[in-house]
Amino acid sequence: MKQDEKLSVVVPCFNEENNIEVLYNLLVPVLESVSPNYEIIFVDDGSKDDTFQLIRKISTDNNNVSGISLSRNFGHQVAIMAGLQQSKGDIVVMMDADLQHPPEVIVKLIAESDKGFDIVNTKRIDSNDSGLFKKTSSRFFYRFINFLSDVKIEPAAADFRLMSRKAVDAFLQFEEKDRFTRGLISWMGFKQSVIEYHASSRFAGKSKYTLRKMMRFGMDGITSFSSKPLRISFYAGLAVFFFGFAYAVYAIIENVSGKTIPGWTSLLVTVLIIGGFQLLSLGIIGEYIARIFNQTKARPLYFIKDKTEE
Ligand code: UDP
Ligand code: MG
Repeated sequence: MKQDEKLSVVVPCFNEENNIEVLYNLLVPVLESVSPNYEIIFVDDGSKDDTFQLIRKISTDNNNVSGISLSRNFGHQVAIMAGLQQSKGDIVVMMDADLQHPPEVIVKLIAESDKGFDIVNTKRIDSNDSGLFKKTSSRFFYRFINFLSDVKIEPAAADFRLMSRKAVDAFLQFEEKDRFTRGLISWMGFKQSVIEYHASSRFAGKSKYTLRKMMRFGMDGITSFSSKPLRISFYAGLAVFFFGFAYAVYAIIENVSGKTIPGWTSLLVTVLIIGGFQLLSLGIIGEYIARIFNQTKARPLYFIKDKTEE
């Protein structure tokens, strides 16, 4: 990073009133040591607590800090997008508000970008915070998504990364409504690198990713990077069809030779398999259609209801 270059840090925040000031106090010395020309952009993603009031207070103390408040909770991925859209830096870093992404790692991100990378991703080594459920489900999810997906998506990847202005401008061109940032970044290309960091525990509050948000995030990851589920349901449907056809032939032969017995079990099993499979296929198609629907409505990604003064 050159002397006169500007560094932006984008922080999405959803009900993080107990983290923001701590993060801010840790962030400032780190950023000042790297570049006097920095900005911190807090994106309040429709918080119900005093997150935005705190952001406003910090921004009056420090001119390098600004904030926007979205009109409701649009989700982490959209909040990142809103922050990137506000950012003016030549180098932009996105990170979580809960101190799981240690501010001092930013120095390493910048050192790595100085080697000529446009995007520096991070990979967490361990996180004391994530419970067994989150860890296992995340490992399983990434294995599954990489099996399905056409782009490679690193497990243990976090939305803690550095991007050059060139990469940010490219990223802002994505018009997808259901955004899976890690996948989009991988799809983008450019010169990318990964550094490892030790994740700390969430400082205050609970994870804002409810099971519902995680499921939705997972489905976005799969549906926006692969049409394999559609194809799989087609082939599996075909297989079930042939099996059903063969079974029907067998049933007719048995009937003609007068050996029919009350076939309750086989009947039930067949009905269940076919019925279950049909529902599954419909569900998969439904997930894709929901996203096509979302995209064709072409609604704005978010609204800003408030901003800190310049
Ligand atoms: N976040 C957000 N909107 C949401 C959910 C989360 O802006 O709807 C922010 C949150 O405030 C945090 C980051 O996204 O800064 C990551 O969320 P969290 O720490 O809850 O996720 P986890 O680390 O548990 O995966
Ligand atoms: Mg967290």
